[in-house]
Amino acid sequence: MKRKTKMIHGGIVGDPQTGAVSVPIYQVSTYKQDGVGNHKGFEYSRTGNPTRHALEVLIKDLEEGYAGFAFASGMAAITSIMMLFNSGDHVVLTDDVYGGTYRVMNKILNRLGIESTFVDTTNLDEVKKAVQTNTKAIYIETPTNPLLKVTDIKEISAYAKEQQLLTIVDNTFSTPYWQTPITLGADIVLHSATKYIGGHSDVVAGLVVVNSEKLAEDIHFIQNSTGGVLGPQDSWLLMRGMKTLGLRMEATEKNTKEIVHFLNEHPEVEKIYYPGLESHQGHEIAKKQASGFGGMISFDVGSEEKADQVLNKVKYFTLAESLGAVESLISIPAKMTHASIPKERRHDLGITDGLIRISVGIEDVEDLIYDLKQALN
Ligand SMILES: *Cc1c(COP(=O)(O)O)cnc(C)c1O
Repeated sequence: MKRKTKMIHGGIVGDPQTGAVSVPIYQVSTYKQDGVGNHKGFEYSRTGNPTRHALEVLIKDLEEGYAGFAFASGMAAITSIMMLFNSGDHVVLTDDVYGGTYRVMNKILNRLGIESTFVDTTNLDEVKKAVQTNTKAIYIETPTNPLLKVTDIKEISAYAKEQQLLTIVDNTFSTPYWQTPITLGADIVLHSATKYIGGHSDVVAGLVVVNSEKLAEDIHFIQNSTGGVLGPQDSWLLMRGMKTLGLRMEATEKNTKEIVHFLNEHPEVEKIYYPGLESHQGHEIAKKQASGFGGMISFDVGSEEKADQVLNKVKYFTLAESLGAVESLISIPAKMTHASIPKERRHDLGITDGLIRISVGIEDVEDLIYDLKQALN
């Protein structure tokens, strides 16, 4: 099955009992048993719910893994994955991971004895230097938020395998439409499905896909034990969003290319970060491991004042956190999504106060370019 067909025909399609073309929303917590322990596969909705199950099978198919799991948010998914580890274990992570990932590692999981080191995972030598005797996994986000740095998934996975470490990939920015890390050697893939997979700024959700029966058992045990599950209504909304994931990703990328071209020529733009640009440091790897470059652009206008001006003047770009929706969004990472990272660390990473991040939507690109032009002048 080709990708676009899989979005429609993957997972569990419709309802065999009634012929309903869409999977029904099973708004239910418990299930009648014909005798003790004699049930039809569902006992209690924290453990399993038919609507959530259909979503979990669909994401498993799209990511080409062994099993999928749906959580109440991307952070619930990430935290549940980290529950695979014990006190005294260590994880190496990408240095400019999502701010919430940095926060959960440094403010919560560290208290439980799960240690972490953040390094530039685009450089394998840095990763090797950070690995300790108690390291259990390498966690990468690629492309990263907001500088769109690209890590070579195949290279990291091969090294991790050799060292008997798990490779975990946050695939939120690329989605399985452009990039399938498990096919490149990763063990676990996760998403903030709040972003492109949902796609309409109306659901908060997280998804996990694993590549083995053992990991599937472990993640299911954690999901059922800690309980951060996604409800049936939200599961259904995600499946609805995923039907148009291919169309949305294609439309977003088409718009993005034109906007990048416009920004690249604009005198007020000092620096532009987009993996589709040949000048971008991760361009070659991105081209090799993903079939598209996505819809995220970051650009530096040099100062906080100028960045503020752009944000105040745009009309079609909604000033908001988040990304990956049908509507274009604009933000200043240093003050919004990455505010939980200390200022010095932010500056070391290149997340300056003049850095603007846009998530390109599927509006008419002429309107979007016109809007940026008037805001930059
Ligand atoms: C938003 C985001 C998360 C966190 O997901 P939530 O759904 O907000 O909990 C994790 N990783 C990345 C890359 C994100 O953009």
